[in-house]
Amino acid sequence: MKYELLAQTFERLAKTSSRLEKTAILASFLRDNLDKNDLDATLLLLQGRVFPEWDERTSGVAGKLVLKALTRATGYEQRVVEQHLKQLGDVGDVAEHLMKKKRQQTLFSSPLTLDDVFATLQKLATLEGARSQDIKLAELARLLTSASPLEAKFIVRAVLEDLRVGIAEGTIRDAIALAFFTESFSYNKEKNSLEYVMKSSLLLDDVKKKIKRALDFTADFSVVLRHILLGKSLDEFKLVLGTPFRVMLARKEKTLDMAFQRTGLPVRVEYKYDGFRMQIHKNGNIIHLFTRRLEDVTTQFPDVVDSIKEFVLPKQCILDAEAVGFDPHTGKYRPFQHISKRIKRKNAIAELAKELPVELNVFDVLLFEGTTQITKPLQERLHVLDAILKKDVSRRIVRAKGTIVNDAVAAQEFYEESLAAGNEGMMLKDLKAPYQPGGRVSAWIKMKPIMDELDLVVVAAEWGSGKRSDWMTSFTLACRSAQGVFLEVGKVGTGLKELDDGEHVTFAQLTNLLKPLILTSKGKEVTLRPNIVLTLAYEEIQKSPSYTSGYALRFPRVLALRTDRSIDDIATIDDMQDLFESQ
Ligand code: ATP
Repeated sequence: MKYELLAQTFERLAKTSSRLEKTAILASFLRDNLDKNDLDATLLLLQGRVFPEWDERTSGVAGKLVLKALTRATGYEQRVVEQHLKQLGDVGDVAEHLMKKKRQQTLFSSPLTLDDVFATLQKLATLEGARSQDIKLAELARLLTSASPLEAKFIVRAVLEDLRVGIAEGTIRDAIALAFFTESFSYNKEKNSLEYVMKSSLLLDDVKKKIKRALDFTADFSVVLRHILLGKSLDEFKLVLGTPFRVMLARKEKTLDMAFQRTGLPVRVEYKYDGFRMQIHKNGNIIHLFTRRLEDVTTQFPDVVDSIKEFVLPKQCILDAEAVGFDPHTGKYRPFQHISKRIKRKNAIAELAKELPVELNVFDVLLFEGTTQITKPLQERLHVLDAILKKDVSRRIVRAKGTIVNDAVAAQEFYEESLAAGNEGMMLKDLKAPYQPGGRVSAWIKMKPIMDELDLVVVAAEWGSGKRSDWMTSFTLACRSAQGVFLEVGKVGTGLKELDDGEHVTFAQLTNLLKPLILTSKGKEVTLRPNIVLTLAYEEIQKSPSYTSGYALRFPRVLALRTDRSIDDIATIDDMQDLFESQ
């Protein structure tokens, strides 16, 4: 496929704010242009990604290098490029503008293919070593030199992983439903409505739900779309051993009564451990461990793999668990922040495992000896869990501690016990509910004493002054809209420490992570590619015209760096509104 087709589609998407029109534009693109050979690349580029969501690699290109490549491709001096950036504010817009006025006309330029663009973007991310910056620059400049102005705009935005076309997963899902399950469709601008004729007796909303379910099971648009193109039924999707699925999530409630209204009584209460989610896939001796963002972390946790081989009885199973770090000397739990470096560690893994051991707390079973468990009510899954572990081995692998309670007194007692044991809070789980992959549902409720916490992404920062001038010290945070647009909610500079005490995020640590993400600099202020997720505590959410979200946080404080979360996991504007209203 020509890359131009995708670039034109992006441009049309960016020009409308109507979600329905976006869906129709995207559906036409997919129906009319999708080339099966480019399917993976097309779907990733549409999501503004160079790698799938579970792959921690990013395009790895800093804003500065993009500006240099633009200088080379357009023939304008860097000074001119930077001036334009100040005026236009977006590197993509600068690329488009300057390519239009381009001084060095290329004599032989053949149309760019989507495949070439995608392969180059992936190559940029994988280059390492001394000359890698030069090669990156040369590759990107080559691509831009052959690009039309519109193509250049979206190549630059794809490299910086910020497409600015306002589509998120939901729009792509709906577009697939519209493209491949209708005979015909059209968008009515006046009424802002979609008109369509279905191919079968299925309802469009049901198709959308089935696509969502398929995605929750596979977390991979390509797999789902290939399945659809082969004419196979969406009902065939199921959990597959070795393939990560999106885990079930919980809602927050403030009081036990409110929680009970959602879960009913009796209810299962469990310790809410302060660690990180781990899904375990065991197929004989082949074990896979995945994080919440579906990253395969099997090699990073050889100690957990050993515990599973030794103490998990079934030959085949999929389990859901929380891995919690503890101090090997005192045995006390350590907060997530402490243990998070194990997720990223690529070398000297065995040493780190000794220094920062984790205990696995298993709380659910989704597959047992080839039979799926997810449709069973929790009560039955808990019985199945009884037969999973050879025995509870404290500090290695145990059943998450929990019990069934019938009233608020017993629940409160358990909650206090959990907090006294050093946990973060308590989970309340509806005994009748099935396991719903990908769902943030009322069947699971979380309760914590600090009610007010949010995961947000850093989109801008400010360098410090005086002895802090090597660090960024103030950070602008954003939530996201349903269309994937980042909306600012305020600034934070507290909660971070100058020296590493193992518990708090340090300025140096955060600065090092943010530096490669700088897009533009002006005085002490930098704008950043949204990538790093922080958990913030705050006292209150207020309405505020100062920030693009319309909300601001009162007394925000950084609690943790969430290397296990991606920008898809951050709070949405709807979450902000819910939290604001529930205050
Ligand atoms: P999430 O989006 O996962 O809800 P969050 O940061 O908003 O994340 P948390 O306060 O971390 O919410 O609460 C939910 C998380 O608690 C789960 O995703 C899981 O990792 C963790 N957890 C700890 N103990 C349990 C348990 N017994 N059952 C289920 N989840 C647990």
